[in-house]
Amino acid sequence: MPTSSKSSFQVLLSTLPWLRDYQYRIAFILFLLIVIKAMTVTMPVVFKEIIDNFDTTTNAILILPLALLLIYGGLQISQALLSGLRRAMIAPIEAEMQRRLSMNLFDHLHKLSLRYHLERKTGGVIKDMSRGSYALVALISALLFIILPVLFEFLFAMGLLVSKYSWNLTFVVLVTMVVFGVYMFFASKWFLDTRKELNEQSSEKSNIASDSLLNYETVKYFNNEERESKAYNKVWKKWVKLDIKFDRSILLVFLGQQLIIALGVTAILILSSQGIVAKEMSVGDLVLINALFLQLTAPMVMLGIQLRHFKSSLVDMQKAVDLLNTEPEIQDKKDAKPLLIENADIQFKNVDFGYDEKRIILKDFNLTIPANKTVAIVGKSGAGKSTLTRLLFRFYDVNSGRIEVDGEDIRDITQNSLRQILAIVPQDSILFNNSIYFNLAYGNANASKKEIEEAAKMAQIYDFIEALPEKWETKVGERGLKLSGGEKQRVAIARAILKQPKILLLDEATSSLDSKTEKAIQNTLESLAGQYTTLIIAHRLSSIVHADLIVVMDDGCIIEQGQHQALLQQNGVYAEMWQVQQH
Ligand code: ATP
Repeated sequence: MPTSSKSSFQVLLSTLPWLRDYQYRIAFILFLLIVIKAMTVTMPVVFKEIIDNFDTTTNAILILPLALLLIYGGLQISQALLSGLRRAMIAPIEAEMQRRLSMNLFDHLHKLSLRYHLERKTGGVIKDMSRGSYALVALISALLFIILPVLFEFLFAMGLLVSKYSWNLTFVVLVTMVVFGVYMFFASKWFLDTRKELNEQSSEKSNIASDSLLNYETVKYFNNEERESKAYNKVWKKWVKLDIKFDRSILLVFLGQQLIIALGVTAILILSSQGIVAKEMSVGDLVLINALFLQLTAPMVMLGIQLRHFKSSLVDMQKAVDLLNTEPEIQDKKDAKPLLIENADIQFKNVDFGYDEKRIILKDFNLTIPANKTVAIVGKSGAGKSTLTRLLFRFYDVNSGRIEVDGEDIRDITQNSLRQILAIVPQDSILFNNSIYFNLAYGNANASKKEIEEAAKMAQIYDFIEALPEKWETKVGERGLKLSGGEKQRVAIARAILKQPKILLLDEATSSLDSKTEKAIQNTLESLAGQYTTLIIAHRLSSIVHADLIVVMDDGCIIEQGQHQALLQQNGVYAEMWQVQQH
C-alpha cells in the first residue's frame, strides 16, 4: 500500500481547499483581527497619554485624562466584544472542518482493502482518525487565534516603536523576539519528537486494551486475566515514563522562554530609564514601552505553547493525511464498466494466488460454476476454499490467471456492480451491535417489513425472534455475541437471501445448526435453486449430496470432482471422507 509522506507545510496546504467555502467569513474574521490588534496596540498609547496628562498639583480630575480614561475603557470593552464575535464566527468553521475530515477518513477507510484492515489494529486507526480531525481544528484555531494575531500585533507594535522611539529600543525588542523565535524553532523539534513517541505509546495502550476486551471470553477460557493485566500494565508503565519526559520537555522549554523575556524586559527598562534621565522620554513613555513589550511577550509565550501544539497537531494531521493518501490495493480500472449480468456463471481460469508472494495458496486453479447451478467445495482445512470466496468478492486480486463472471474478467468491471450480485454467508458471521431487525434489514435497505419477515421464515429464525421478549428489537450485542452460533448463522442466511443476489456463497453456513434446522434450511435453499448460482463450502458432506457438482480440494488444487454417486464410485478421497462421516 503506497503512501506518500508529506512535509508539515504540505499537510497544512492540503487542508486549505477545504476552507474555500468559508472565504468571506474568513476574510471578515481577518478584518476583525486587524481591528482588534490595532486596538490592543492603541491601549498602551492611551495609557501613556493618561499618565503624561495627569497634573498632580491640582486635586481635581482634569477633562483630558478623564476623556482618555473613558476611551481606554471603551477600547477595552470593544476589544472584548469583537474578540467574542470573532470566536463565534469561527466555531461553525471548526465544527464543519472536523466533520469533513472525519467523513473523508471514514469513507476512505471503507475503500481500503481487506489486507490493510487485517494488518492494522482497528483501535489504533480510530484513534488516528479522531486525533486527525481534532488536530485540524487545533491548526485552524492556532492560525486564526494565535499565530496571525501575534504577527499583526508584532507588526503594529514595531511600527509604533520605530515611529516614536529610538532605534536601540526597537532593536532590543526585535532581538528579543528573534531570539525567542529561533529558540522556539529548535526547542519545538525536540519537544515534538517526545510528543510523537508519547502518541505512539498511547495508541499502543488502547490497542492492547481493546484487543484484550474483545477477547474477553478467550481470556476467561484460559484464566489469563493476570497475563492481560501485566501486558496492559507494561504499556502503561512505558507511557508514564514517556509522559514524564514529555512534561520535563515542556518545563525546560518554558523556562528558556521566561529567561529570554526577563533579559529583554531588563534591557528595555534600562534603556527607557536612561531616556527619562536624559529628558528624551517621559514616564508615560516608559510605561508605554514596558506595557507594549509585556503585551507582546504574553502572546509570544502563548505562541510558544501554540507553536508546539501547532507542530504536534501537524504530526497528528500528517497521520490522517497519510491515511487519506493510502491507495486502496484493489481499485476499479479507469474504464471499468458495471456488470450487466445475464448468466451468473463463474469461471476460475488458471488462477494462481497467495496472500503472500512467498506462500502460494491456489495453484493453477480451474473451475467452472454454471449459471444457476449448485457447486459444492469440500476438502481439508486450509485447502483454500474460503479463499475462493474472497477472490470472487475481489478483496484480493489473483497473481495470475483470471476469474470471470458472465464472461467478464472481474478486474474489468466495477467492484460495486460485482458485489451487488454476490451474497455470502461467511464462516464466522459478525453482526452489528444493534437490533435483530437492523441486522436482517442490512441485507437490503429497500426491503419491506414483510419481506424481512419472509426471509426470516426462510432462514428458520422467524419463530425464534417472535418468541423473544423484545422480539425484533432485541439487541444482539457486540459482534452479535448475545446470539448462539446457529442463531447468528440464520440471521446471516436471512440477510443474504434478502439481498436477492445472483450468486450465493455459503461458507460453512449451516455448520452450527442442528440437523433438523439444517435440513429445513436446505429445503428452503433447494426451493430457491435455479434462481441463484450457488457455491457451497462444507465439511459436513450430508449437506451437499444434492449439489450439481462436488469439487474436492487439497492444497490449493482440485483433486476430484463429480456428482455424489459418481465420486463414491471412484472410491477416492471423497469416498473415504464420506465413509469416515458415516460413523
Ligand atoms: P477451512 O476449511 O479451515 O475454512 P479453507 O480451505 O477455507 O479452510 P482458507 O481460508 O481459504 O482455507 O485459507 C487457505 C490458507 O490461506 C490457509 O492456510 C490460511 O492460513 C491462509 N490465509 C487465509 N487468510 C489469510 C490472510 N489474510 N493472510 C495470509 N494467509 C491467509
